[in-house]
Amino acid sequence: MNLILLGPPGAGKGTQAKKLVVSTSMPQISTGDMLRAGVAAGTDLGKQAKEHMDAGRLVPDEVVIGLVEERLAQADCKEGFMLDGFPRTVHQAEILEKMLDGMGRQIDNVLLLDVDDEELVKRITGRRTCGKCGAIYHLVFSPPPSDDTCSCGSIGLVQRADDNEVTVRERLTAYHDQTSPLIDFYGNRGVLRKVSGTGKKADEVFEQSKKVLGLG
Ligand code: ADP
Ligand code: ADP
Ligand code: ZN
Repeated sequence: MNLILLGPPGAGKGTQAKKLVVSTSMPQISTGDMLRAGVAAGTDLGKQAKEHMDAGRLVPDEVVIGLVEERLAQADCKEGFMLDGFPRTVHQAEILEKMLDGMGRQIDNVLLLDVDDEELVKRITGRRTCGKCGAIYHLVFSPPPSDDTCSCGSIGLVQRADDNEVTVRERLTAYHDQTSPLIDFYGNRGVLRKVSGTGKKADEVFEQSKKVLGLG
Protein backbone atom coordinates (compact mmCIF):
# COMPACT_ATOMS: atom_id res chain seq x y z
CA MET A 1 0.00 0.00 0.00
CA ASN A 2 1.17 3.52 -0.81
CA LEU A 3 -0.26 5.69 1.93
CA ILE A 4 -0.32 9.40 2.79
CA LEU A 5 -0.98 10.63 6.33
CA LEU A 6 -2.73 13.97 6.04
CA GLY A 7 -3.75 16.34 8.82
CA PRO A 8 -2.84 19.53 10.63
CA PRO A 9 0.26 19.87 12.82
CA GLY A 10 -0.30 17.92 16.03
CA ALA A 11 -3.13 15.76 14.64
CA GLY A 12 -1.18 12.61 15.47
CA LYS A 13 0.37 11.70 12.10
CA GLY A 14 3.70 10.73 13.65
CA THR A 15 2.02 8.82 16.48
CA GLN A 16 -0.19 6.82 14.10
CA ALA A 17 2.70 6.30 11.65
CA LYS A 18 4.80 4.66 14.36
CA LYS A 19 1.93 2.29 15.19
CA LEU A 20 1.42 1.49 11.51
CA VAL A 21 5.14 0.80 11.03
CA VAL A 22 4.91 -1.88 13.74
CA SER A 23 1.76 -3.49 12.33
CA THR A 24 2.54 -3.25 8.59
CA SER A 25 6.35 -2.83 8.40
CA MET A 26 5.87 -0.10 5.79
CA PRO A 27 8.59 2.56 6.06
CA GLN A 28 7.57 5.96 7.48
CA ILE A 29 8.80 8.87 5.39
CA SER A 30 8.55 12.03 7.47
CA THR A 31 9.66 15.17 5.64
CA GLY A 32 9.67 17.06 8.97
CA ASP A 33 12.13 14.52 10.45
CA MET A 34 14.28 14.62 7.31
CA LEU A 35 14.38 18.44 7.33
CA ARG A 36 15.21 18.54 11.06
CA ALA A 37 18.05 16.06 10.45
CA GLY A 38 19.37 18.40 7.72
CA VAL A 39 19.15 21.39 10.07
CA ALA A 40 20.95 19.49 12.86
CA ALA A 41 23.71 18.36 10.49
CA GLY A 42 24.07 21.86 9.02
CA THR A 43 23.66 20.70 5.42
CA ASP A 44 22.90 23.22 2.63
CA LEU A 45 19.37 21.90 2.55
CA GLY A 46 19.08 22.35 6.32
CA LYS A 47 20.29 25.93 5.99
CA GLN A 48 17.64 26.63 3.34
CA ALA A 49 14.91 25.07 5.47
CA LYS A 50 15.69 26.44 8.93
CA GLU A 51 14.35 30.00 8.73
CA HIS A 52 11.06 28.80 7.23
CA MET A 53 10.63 26.10 9.88
CA ASP A 54 11.45 28.45 12.76
CA ALA A 55 8.85 30.90 11.48
CA GLY A 56 6.20 28.18 11.12
CA ARG A 57 6.06 28.56 7.34
CA LEU A 58 6.32 25.80 4.77
CA VAL A 59 9.74 25.11 3.28
CA PRO A 60 9.83 25.84 -0.50
CA ASP A 61 8.38 23.00 -2.58
CA GLU A 62 11.56 22.34 -4.57
CA VAL A 63 13.59 21.68 -1.40
CA VAL A 64 11.12 19.10 -0.07
CA ILE A 65 10.29 17.44 -3.39
CA GLY A 66 13.95 16.57 -4.04
CA LEU A 67 14.17 14.90 -0.63
CA VAL A 68 11.09 12.77 -1.22
CA GLU A 69 12.10 11.76 -4.73
CA GLU A 70 15.43 10.45 -3.45
CA ARG A 71 13.80 8.61 -0.56
CA LEU A 72 11.09 6.91 -2.66
CA ALA A 73 13.77 5.49 -4.98
CA GLN A 74 15.23 3.45 -2.10
CA ALA A 75 14.70 -0.29 -1.95
CA ASP A 76 12.58 -0.37 1.23
CA CYS A 77 9.82 1.63 -0.52
CA LYS A 78 9.30 -0.96 -3.26
CA GLU A 79 6.49 -2.80 -1.47
CA GLY A 80 4.79 0.32 -0.16
CA PHE A 81 5.43 3.43 1.91
CA MET A 82 3.82 5.83 4.31
CA LEU A 83 4.29 9.56 3.68
CA ASP A 84 4.01 11.62 6.88
CA GLY A 85 3.83 15.39 6.32
CA PHE A 86 4.10 15.27 2.52
CA PRO A 87 2.52 16.47 0.29
CA ARG A 88 1.55 19.75 1.97
CA THR A 89 0.62 21.82 -1.12
CA VAL A 90 -1.34 21.01 -4.26
CA HIS A 91 1.86 21.57 -6.25
CA GLN A 92 3.65 18.91 -4.16
CA ALA A 93 0.73 16.54 -4.70
CA GLU A 94 0.79 17.06 -8.46
CA ILE A 95 4.54 16.45 -8.64
CA LEU A 96 4.18 13.34 -6.47
CA GLU A 97 1.48 12.02 -8.78
CA LYS A 98 3.76 12.47 -11.80
CA MET A 99 6.70 10.94 -9.98
CA LEU A 100 4.71 7.82 -9.04
CA ASP A 101 3.15 7.64 -12.48
CA GLY A 102 6.64 7.41 -13.96
CA MET A 103 7.27 4.41 -11.66
CA GLY A 104 3.95 2.77 -12.62
CA ARG A 105 2.61 3.39 -9.13
CA GLN A 106 -0.04 5.46 -7.39
CA ILE A 107 -1.37 6.58 -4.01
CA ASP A 108 -3.85 4.00 -2.72
CA ASN A 109 -5.05 5.68 0.45
CA VAL A 110 -4.92 9.07 2.12
CA LEU A 111 -5.68 8.91 5.85
CA LEU A 112 -7.02 12.27 7.02
CA LEU A 113 -6.70 12.83 10.76
CA ASP A 114 -9.12 15.57 11.69
CA VAL A 115 -8.67 17.43 15.00
CA ASP A 116 -9.98 20.82 16.26
CA ASP A 117 -7.51 23.73 16.31
CA GLU A 118 -7.74 24.32 20.09
CA GLU A 119 -6.91 20.69 20.82
CA LEU A 120 -4.02 20.91 18.31
CA VAL A 121 -2.47 23.81 20.21
CA LYS A 122 -2.63 21.80 23.48
CA ARG A 123 -1.14 18.75 21.80
CA ILE A 124 1.74 20.62 20.19
CA THR A 125 2.77 22.75 23.16
CA GLY A 126 2.91 19.60 25.35
CA ARG A 127 4.77 17.45 22.81
CA ARG A 128 8.15 16.00 23.81
CA THR A 129 10.25 13.62 21.71
CA CYS A 130 13.18 11.31 22.32
CA GLY A 131 16.27 12.39 20.40
CA LYS A 132 17.58 8.82 20.39
CA CYS A 133 14.68 6.57 19.31
CA GLY A 134 12.15 9.15 18.03
CA ALA A 135 9.40 8.19 20.50
CA ILE A 136 6.65 10.82 20.77
CA TYR A 137 5.24 11.79 24.18
CA HIS A 138 2.85 14.37 25.56
CA LEU A 139 3.33 15.82 29.06
CA VAL A 140 -0.36 15.23 29.88
CA PHE A 141 -1.95 12.94 27.24
CA SER A 142 0.89 10.44 26.83
CA PRO A 143 3.51 11.05 29.53
CA PRO A 144 6.95 9.41 29.48
CA PRO A 145 7.63 6.65 32.06
CA SER A 146 9.41 9.19 34.27
CA ASP A 147 9.85 12.93 33.99
CA ASP A 148 12.74 13.18 31.57
CA THR A 149 13.43 9.59 30.56
CA CYS A 150 12.26 7.68 27.48
CA SER A 151 11.15 4.05 27.59
CA CYS A 152 14.34 3.31 25.56
CA GLY A 153 16.38 4.50 28.56
CA SER A 154 17.59 7.73 26.99
CA ILE A 155 17.58 10.70 29.36
CA GLY A 156 16.59 14.19 28.22
CA LEU A 157 13.42 14.44 26.13
CA VAL A 158 13.34 17.44 23.82
CA GLN A 159 10.80 20.05 22.85
CA ARG A 160 10.97 21.09 19.20
CA ALA A 161 12.02 24.71 18.59
CA ASP A 162 8.85 25.32 16.56
CA ASP A 163 6.48 23.79 19.14
CA ASN A 164 5.58 27.08 20.83
CA GLU A 165 2.17 28.75 20.79
CA VAL A 166 3.13 31.60 18.41
CA THR A 167 4.65 29.34 15.75
CA VAL A 168 1.85 26.82 16.14
CA ARG A 169 -0.71 29.45 15.11
CA GLU A 170 1.38 30.21 12.00
CA ARG A 171 1.55 26.51 11.17
CA LEU A 172 -2.21 26.14 11.57
CA THR A 173 -2.74 29.07 9.20
CA ALA A 174 -0.34 27.46 6.69
CA TYR A 175 -2.30 24.21 7.00
CA HIS A 176 -5.69 25.82 6.41
CA ASP A 177 -4.44 27.97 3.49
CA GLN A 178 -1.99 25.69 1.69
CA THR A 179 -2.55 22.08 2.79
CA SER A 180 -6.30 21.67 3.35
CA PRO A 181 -7.04 21.95 -0.43
CA LEU A 182 -5.52 18.45 -0.60
CA ILE A 183 -8.68 17.12 1.06
CA ASP A 184 -10.62 17.86 -2.15
CA PHE A 185 -7.66 16.89 -4.35
CA TYR A 186 -7.61 13.35 -2.95
CA GLY A 187 -11.35 13.25 -2.36
CA ASN A 188 -11.81 13.71 -6.11
CA ARG A 189 -9.49 10.77 -6.71
CA GLY A 190 -11.56 8.53 -4.44
CA VAL A 191 -8.71 7.68 -2.05
CA LEU A 192 -9.54 9.86 0.98
CA ARG A 193 -10.32 8.06 4.30
CA LYS A 194 -11.22 10.30 7.21
CA VAL A 195 -10.90 9.61 10.91
CA SER A 196 -12.00 12.18 13.46
CA GLY A 197 -9.43 12.38 16.25
CA THR A 198 -10.81 15.13 18.50
CA GLY A 199 -11.10 13.85 22.07
CA LYS A 200 -10.08 10.31 21.10
CA LYS A 201 -7.14 8.42 22.54
CA ALA A 202 -4.34 7.46 20.15
CA ASP A 203 -5.18 3.73 20.43
CA GLU A 204 -8.79 4.39 19.50
CA VAL A 205 -7.71 6.48 16.50
CA PHE A 206 -5.41 3.62 15.50
CA GLU A 207 -8.20 1.03 15.59
CA GLN A 208 -10.44 3.25 13.43
CA SER A 209 -7.57 4.01 11.05
CA LYS A 210 -6.86 0.31 10.50
CA LYS A 211 -10.53 -0.22 9.79
CA VAL A 212 -10.85 2.53 7.16
CA LEU A 213 -7.59 1.38 5.54
CA GLY A 214 -8.81 -2.21 5.36
CA LEU A 215 -6.03 -3.43 7.64
CA GLY A 216 -8.36 -5.49 9.85
P1 ADP B 1 1.81 15.24 14.11
O1 ADP B 1 2.86 14.28 13.60
O2 ADP B 1 0.55 15.17 13.32
O3 ADP B 1 2.33 16.64 14.23
P2 ADP B 1 2.16 13.86 16.70
O4 ADP B 1 1.92 12.43 16.41
O5 ADP B 1 3.57 14.29 16.90
O6 ADP B 1 1.43 14.78 15.59
O7 ADP B 1 1.29 14.25 17.99
C1 ADP B 1 1.29 15.57 18.52
C2 ADP B 1 1.19 15.49 20.05
O8 ADP B 1 -0.10 15.03 20.41
C3 ADP B 1 2.20 14.55 20.71
O9 ADP B 1 2.59 15.10 21.93
C4 ADP B 1 1.37 13.27 20.92
O10 ADP B 1 1.84 12.52 22.04
C5 ADP B 1 -0.01 13.81 21.15
N1 ADP B 1 -1.09 12.93 20.65
C6 ADP B 1 -1.08 12.16 19.54
N2 ADP B 1 -2.27 11.53 19.37
C7 ADP B 1 -3.05 11.94 20.41
C8 ADP B 1 -4.41 11.66 20.82
N3 ADP B 1 -5.20 10.83 20.11
N4 ADP B 1 -4.86 12.26 21.94
C9 ADP B 1 -4.09 13.12 22.66
N5 ADP B 1 -2.81 13.42 22.33
C10 ADP B 1 -2.30 12.84 21.23
P1 ADP C 1 3.98 18.99 12.25
O1 ADP C 1 3.33 17.74 11.80
O2 ADP C 1 3.99 19.18 13.72
O3 ADP C 1 3.51 20.21 11.51
P2 ADP C 1 6.41 18.39 10.71
O4 ADP C 1 7.51 17.74 11.43
O5 ADP C 1 5.64 17.61 9.73
O6 ADP C 1 5.49 19.02 11.86
O7 ADP C 1 6.95 19.69 9.95
C1 ADP C 1 7.73 20.67 10.61
C2 ADP C 1 8.05 21.80 9.65
O8 ADP C 1 8.84 21.28 8.56
C3 ADP C 1 6.85 22.46 8.97
O9 ADP C 1 6.30 23.50 9.76
C4 ADP C 1 7.49 23.00 7.69
O10 ADP C 1 8.23 24.17 7.93
C5 ADP C 1 8.49 21.89 7.34
N1 ADP C 1 7.92 20.86 6.43
C6 ADP C 1 7.72 19.54 6.71
N2 ADP C 1 7.18 18.91 5.65
C7 ADP C 1 7.03 19.85 4.68
C8 ADP C 1 6.50 19.84 3.35
N3 ADP C 1 6.01 18.71 2.80
N4 ADP C 1 6.51 21.01 2.64
C9 ADP C 1 6.98 22.14 3.18
N5 ADP C 1 7.47 22.22 4.42
C10 ADP C 1 7.50 21.10 5.18
ZN1 ZN D 1 13.78 6.87 23.28
